[in-house]
Amino acid sequence: MGALSCLRPLDDHVTVHVGVGGTTHVRSVMRCGSVWSCPWCAPVVRSQKAEEITAAVESWLAKGGRVWFVTGTIPHTATDSLDVLLNRLQEMWTRAYGAGSGGQGVRRRNGVVGSVRSIEVTRGDNGWHPHIHALVFVEPGVPFSVADWTARWRAQFSREGFDYVPGVSMDVRQVRTPDTAEGATAIGQYVAAVEGGWGAGLEIARADLKGRGGLRADQILELASTGEKRWVWRWREYEQATKGRRCIVWSRGLRALCGLDEVEATDEELAAGPDADEVIGLVIVPAAEWNSARSSGQLGELLEAVVRGDRSRWRFHTVGVDWSGTRPRWLDPPPEPAQDAPLPLVA
Ligand SMILES: [Zn+2]
Repeated sequence: MGALSCLRPLDDHVTVHVGVGGTTHVRSVMRCGSVWSCPWCAPVVRSQKAEEITAAVESWLAKGGRVWFVTGTIPHTATDSLDVLLNRLQEMWTRAYGAGSGGQGVRRRNGVVGSVRSIEVTRGDNGWHPHIHALVFVEPGVPFSVADWTARWRAQFSREGFDYVPGVSMDVRQVRTPDTAEGATAIGQYVAAVEGGWGAGLEIARADLKGRGGLRADQILELASTGEKRWVWRWREYEQATKGRRCIVWSRGLRALCGLDEVEATDEELAAGPDADEVIGLVIVPAAEWNSARSSGQLGELLEAVVRGDRSRWRFHTVGVDWSGTRPRWLDPPPEPAQDAPLPLVA
């Protein structure tokens, strides 16, 4: 299921849970779960993955281990197909650091216990720019040699006949908490961050927030939605090339080592989202109303109106919420949602 069918109502109405902080959680809609191309699911799924990754890094640092943030790029031209570039990037990474003897050797020499990696794609003047980010987890007490690690990437460049540019073709930085310098641990007190960058989880999982290195997927989609042919083609190419590809991948066993469940929640499960804060109200939006906002790209505005209780543009039915004060308040006791009740029509 692609992003186009995402957020379609599964029933004749859509239920929106309104949280105490003004958040909204949409229920009874389809979710595609695509971290690559869905403007609605990607932020929901990616933010939860970022939190998990940060928790894993902090757990590992607290055990005395170390973590390195690696970025690998490959050369490209304006006419390279994205599918070809993504295959090449993944093959080069697997040959450099995967199950082959060379990959095993570099991991063993450097005390690498596992990694979590992600693929990012941006579009610049010089074509598609796919790159790989990895957090490399290193055993306590084993020195990690940046030169040894990058030599494996350089070897792939030689094999492919590419020019290797030190610091650009591969960039390696340490992940630190302010306290690791003193050897102390401060779980939850500080977020483990990449040197000169963001928090470790954000750097791996939030490609949807980054503003550097060209246009992001959501920006390409926005350009494509104007109907301009070259952007429509680029968006199609992006969707087709990323479809079915894994975006954020943990090496086997690493999650358990860092205190996480070895079995990951699926992207579809994550897209349904947690109820992040206390639910104070239910809002029932008729499917027709929802679909009209959805097809005109105004779901964000509709949800804002729902939070404000503003029915001047869309009609919806609020259940158990008093909107008259400065913020919405549960009526006590909250009545059961009356889904069959006639919906108020507001002129
Ligand atoms: Zn979706």
